[in-house]
Amino acid sequence: MDIFDFSEGREGYYGDFGGVFLPEILHGTIEELLQCFRDCKNDPNFWTEYESMLKSYSGRPTPITYLENLSKHLGGAQIYVKRDDLNHTGSHKVNNVIGQGLLCKRLGKKRVIAETGAGQHGFATATMAAKFGFDCRIYMGAVDVARQRPNVFWMENLGAEVISVTDGQQTLKDAVNECMRDWVTNMADTHYILGTACGPHPFPEMVSWFQSIIGKEARKQMLEQTGRLPDKVYACVGGGSNAMGIFQGFMDDERVELIGCEAGGKGIGSYMHSARLAYDDAKVGVAQGYKTYFLQNEDGNMSETHSVAAGLDYIGINPIFSHLWEQGKVRFEAATDEEVKEALKLVMKTEGLIPALETTHGFVTAIKEAPSLSKDKIILINQSGRGDKDIFTIADALDDSKWKSFITGKARDYDLEKN
Ligand SMILES: *Cc1c(COP(=O)(O)O)cnc(C)c1O
Repeated sequence: MDIFDFSEGREGYYGDFGGVFLPEILHGTIEELLQCFRDCKNDPNFWTEYESMLKSYSGRPTPITYLENLSKHLGGAQIYVKRDDLNHTGSHKVNNVIGQGLLCKRLGKKRVIAETGAGQHGFATATMAAKFGFDCRIYMGAVDVARQRPNVFWMENLGAEVISVTDGQQTLKDAVNECMRDWVTNMADTHYILGTACGPHPFPEMVSWFQSIIGKEARKQMLEQTGRLPDKVYACVGGGSNAMGIFQGFMDDERVELIGCEAGGKGIGSYMHSARLAYDDAKVGVAQGYKTYFLQNEDGNMSETHSVAAGLDYIGINPIFSHLWEQGKVRFEAATDEEVKEALKLVMKTEGLIPALETTHGFVTAIKEAPSLSKDKIILINQSGRGDKDIFTIADALDDSKWKSFITGKARDYDLEKN
């Protein structure tokens, strides 16, 4: 099954989802991007260059690790993890930004812009822009700028300009809107590096294509290491790019079950979560350039979302997943903030791995399901990112009192310096 073969249906649509809903003025720019993307996709040299850049710059291929201790502890299926946390900048996001950076060079554009929520995509984009010599501007909600200082610090020191957006709720969706405005004004020399598999066509297809490197590697590695394919593959889902990445390695294998794990936040019925499909709380709508399931109220106003993991805290979901979910091809589950904290502690203590809070949502679901599977079953989790870079957020989430006194002490030192 090739979900990206549009010869029978409408270009850029997955069932009823996707499309391009943009102001008229951007149509030429999107068309130019689509043409360039098609050329890249059809040119085997492009993919070779992409792979070799990721190899030398980001350490790909990332390995697969067998979690022997955790598997024994749970007493069921054998658990394997794809280590995209070992990438440069600490997550799978670098795959997408390097891909779009190479594409931007082909487009002949010298300036890149991006939206960012927690700052992880902005951080990865700023790294790439420094490497490729692009001017770089990152849009970030003012609330996020205030609470994500470490990533803002890195972006600025990497040479990017960080714009603090004071519209609306001053978070991710407001940053996306502001970024779109910049694009409309500067489209002649600017490429918009969208951070996940959402937005107008061709972004969902393009970001999925770059992230498919995860699934390509994982399929081959599982066959080499275990002699067969996994029975189940788990991945956390924010916009859906890391999950699309690993799932594409197994999409045609009927016997491999694919499970997407969304942010259950404070739980079902709390209205403080980002589980669009698992809680069946979202409605189909059009926003930010595409049609999909969005968390919105009766009047079509976007709801407030919440997750302990900033990278999963988003109103919409990749249109491809909306379609695959309706088709029963991908199952969706949710993990609550509390479950995430418990799973993170367990994984750290049994395996010495530190998954990002986002990633840990995939672990929660796998940990729930592994014990009821027999020992000859194999499951694979995509470790989309590492948590050590998020020490401020994780220490807060785990409510670590020694960390708090360390931070208070630091603040006191700065005060003493001032006086
Ligand atoms: C941004 C992020 C995510 C969520 O984005 P997707 O597009 O759904 O993959 C997941 N994990 C990590 C580590 C991230 O940084």
